[in-house]
Amino acid sequence: MSDSATSRYQALLEIASRKSVAYEPREKDNAKVFNENTFNEEVMRERLPKDVYKKLRNTIKTGEKLDLSIANTVAHAMKEWAIEKGVSHFTHWFQPQTGLTAEKHDAFLELDDDKVVERFRGNQLVQGEPDASSFPSGGSRTTFEARGYTMWDPSSPAFIAEGPRGGILCIPSVFISYTGEALDKKTPLLRSMESISNSALKVLKLFGSDATRVVTTIGTEQEYFLIDKSFYNLRPDLQLTGRTLVGAQPPKGQQLDDHYFGSIKERVLAFMQDAETQLYKLGVPAKTRHNEVAPHQYELAPIFAEANVGSDRNQMIMEVLKKVANRHGLAMLLHEKPFAGINGSGKHNNWSMADSNGNNLLDPGDTPEQNLQFLVFLVSTLRAVYTHGDLLRMTIASAGNDHRLGANEAPPAIISVFLGERLSEILDAIKEGKSAKAADDYIIDLGLSKLPSVIRDNTDRNRTSPFAFTGQKFEFRAIGSSASVSLANTVLSAAVADSIDLIYDEISKLVSDGSELKDAVLKVLQKYVIETEPIRFEGNNYSEEWAKEAEKRGLPNIKRTAYALDAFVKKENMELLERQKIYSKREIEGRYNTKLEQYVTALEIESETFLNIAYTMILPAALSYKAQLIDAVKGIKELDTLLPKGSAKTEVELLKTIISDIDKIETGCQDIKSALEKAEEIEDLEKKAKFVADNIVDLLNDVRVPIDALEKVVPDNVWPLPKYSEMLFIM
Ligand code: ADP
Ligand code: MG
Repeated sequence: MSDSATSRYQALLEIASRKSVAYEPREKDNAKVFNENTFNEEVMRERLPKDVYKKLRNTIKTGEKLDLSIANTVAHAMKEWAIEKGVSHFTHWFQPQTGLTAEKHDAFLELDDDKVVERFRGNQLVQGEPDASSFPSGGSRTTFEARGYTMWDPSSPAFIAEGPRGGILCIPSVFISYTGEALDKKTPLLRSMESISNSALKVLKLFGSDATRVVTTIGTEQEYFLIDKSFYNLRPDLQLTGRTLVGAQPPKGQQLDDHYFGSIKERVLAFMQDAETQLYKLGVPAKTRHNEVAPHQYELAPIFAEANVGSDRNQMIMEVLKKVANRHGLAMLLHEKPFAGINGSGKHNNWSMADSNGNNLLDPGDTPEQNLQFLVFLVSTLRAVYTHGDLLRMTIASAGNDHRLGANEAPPAIISVFLGERLSEILDAIKEGKSAKAADDYIIDLGLSKLPSVIRDNTDRNRTSPFAFTGQKFEFRAIGSSASVSLANTVLSAAVADSIDLIYDEISKLVSDGSELKDAVLKVLQKYVIETEPIRFEGNNYSEEWAKEAEKRGLPNIKRTAYALDAFVKKENMELLERQKIYSKREIEGRYNTKLEQYVTALEIESETFLNIAYTMILPAALSYKAQLIDAVKGIKELDTLLPKGSAKTEVELLKTIISDIDKIETGCQDIKSALEKAEEIEDLEKKAKFVADNIVDLLNDVRVPIDALEKVVPDNVWPLPKYSEMLFIM
């Protein structure tokens, strides 16, 4: 038995001998631990002087600028609260463009004449200085200023991340350069919320609302896989690239559909329950858990929140799931496609807008006027997706998500909108109003008064649409499971804000020219209902017919990230982002370069990891089997007349297969090497990314084929890597 096969068997033995889950009563009820580790409103009210509390609360509730004179008091109260909970360090917690979160811990500890004191000052709370030069910026910093700083963002609560020997006080922060450029994912998200608030308020005012602020709300359904840690430890590809670069299809995959909503295994349930407790402590309202379609695939959904908070929480969810899985001897896989041929993972981003009076702006109201207002926001969203669909496609582009989009399991790379039958009927009626004057009256007088009940009980479901209206929110379903949701929500909000502005301006113009509001609204909406018709699609988005139909409609279908990213720097899209004050031109260019770089790097790492696995694990196993077969054939030959003719038939056939596969692997590896070398020589980042997309992606798909074929003939006891049939079915 080879050594690596011994490790694989060892892993199987370890897993078989794992203790079954013990039933233990929870220490405290979920409701009691909720928000235990956040510096939440209640704690603030308790611990801060009244005037300070009021000022801070104002900033949080209204987005008002923070009064810096209160920083010292708040910092002190935070420190006292944290120390009581066993915290020794604090960190600014922020979201650089890696898509992950970053932290650098500092102790409260200070020396006062050799005496130790624990201190946390206002300026430490407000501002931090990580060394920005090691975070991706797409070159925007190198030209100007090498340093950046983090700044406290009071709009999401500070929290304590528990550690094995005490916790860390985390201060949610934004990350900006000294020249004021955003270096993180959160600053643009906050800017986009500001912009949509300004735009939506104008429309609300038109309809007589006294709301003072509008926020976007998001609820993100997070999919992930779990496999046993012992298997994970033996797969360098999972560790380094997040996905399996080789692996034969198991005899049983997901054909039986027996996993979706199936009963959750106790070991997994114990993990979920522990993870949820951690999340509750952090104030993350984890609400729904269930098995997903693929074996060992699961989903967690929290209750929605304001977009910036929801986005922070999604980061916490990913981190907590990872940590707690590890404690349970499990590895949580966040990659969009960990296993070829098995459904991948995504993130459904439920999105809406709410005003300061608590109204959901995508919830059809009870009166015709409310319905009219709802339709303005609905059609604005349609127009945003219609006009900037390519930009939305860009926001979900990554090397990982390319494996999923359009792979008959996930929404395709074609961005379209599903509205459901009733809403479609209403829009069609608005459209029809165009031809005759009499028809206009019909819609206004009869149609509208009927709207409320008609729209309300919308229960249509279309699971295949990338952007679906689901009753009182849109669901953007194409985000990758490992991605930060910030960018998608930033761009979506910016594009919707822009369409609201346009529609508002046209309505206002008609009104000031003497039209009645109702008539003006319907007239403008009619125009955009007609204009946006090409992106409305109610059928099966996974079908080939849709791809053809979409092409006829002129909708882009861009399969690979390197090309999808073009939309970021397209003139109309850049103008939108600048007009809505989301990014400066330089910020866009920096981010575009970062995304290109990340794409190229991801594929380079996959290539190197593949070569490594092929040469150091697969080929040795195949070559040793080959040698064994050659010996066997020789032995049979030596026995010559003692055995009937053709006695070595099986050995020879196997030998031929093995030799042919080994040759294919070697050729494939050489192809990858030379493609890597060529890529290396290309200086222009965009050209390099496109070269990688055109050459390396397919190579990686092709060279695994002979390896996956070998897995099915090489003796089990010399195969070095845990197999799909093991990783996906043994736990
Ligand atoms: P569905 O079954 O249609 O997916 P759920 O009620 O399960 O809908 O909700 C899915 C997610 O959508 C949850 O995270 C939920 O909190 C969120 N959600 C519900 N209403 C809104 C809203 N107005 N804005 C944003 N997210 C919302
Ligand atoms: Mg959903």
